[in-house]
Amino acid sequence: MSDLRDLYQEIILDHYRTPRNLRAPAGANRTADGHNPLCGDRVRVRLRVADGVIEDAGFEGAGCAISTASASLMTEAVKGKTVAEAEALFQAFRALVTGDSAGSTDADLGKLEALAGVRDYPIRIKCATLAWHTLESALRSVSGEVAADPGAGSVVSSE
Ligand code: ZN
Repeated sequence: MSDLRDLYQEIILDHYRTPRNLRAPAGANRTADGHNPLCGDRVRVRLRVADGVIEDAGFEGAGCAISTASASLMTEAVKGKTVAEAEALFQAFRALVTGDSAGSTDADLGKLEALAGVRDYPIRIKCATLAWHTLESALRSVSGEVAADPGAGSVVSSE
């Protein structure tokens, strides 16, 4: 575990120990479940979306420090954003953690920058992006329907 120590920056530890939005938002109308079999991380993302705006976001699940901190930081980052802004943020975040700037946007990552270190640990990239892939799946879901996500292997199902 010692080679992972420099990943565990203060922000990551803070969000791992005290996750924000670890709850089901009232009136949630978008839900998806994500699973990262490489690490065993599981996350359920619930959103309340109205008029193209993510009014509230929450998550539940069990995973490693990186996946939990990432889900916590993500829910903070997307709350109040439009769906388009959240998707631009995901593209920028994916570019940050993979080091692949293709498709990147100039969205302001703010505290999400804390996860930049995972790019040096390829096995951890899926931990960091799981919540975001699950968010994307949730945004495409229609409440009460199963919306399979064949494009993202880490997201196994959604409600
Ligand atoms: Zn993990």
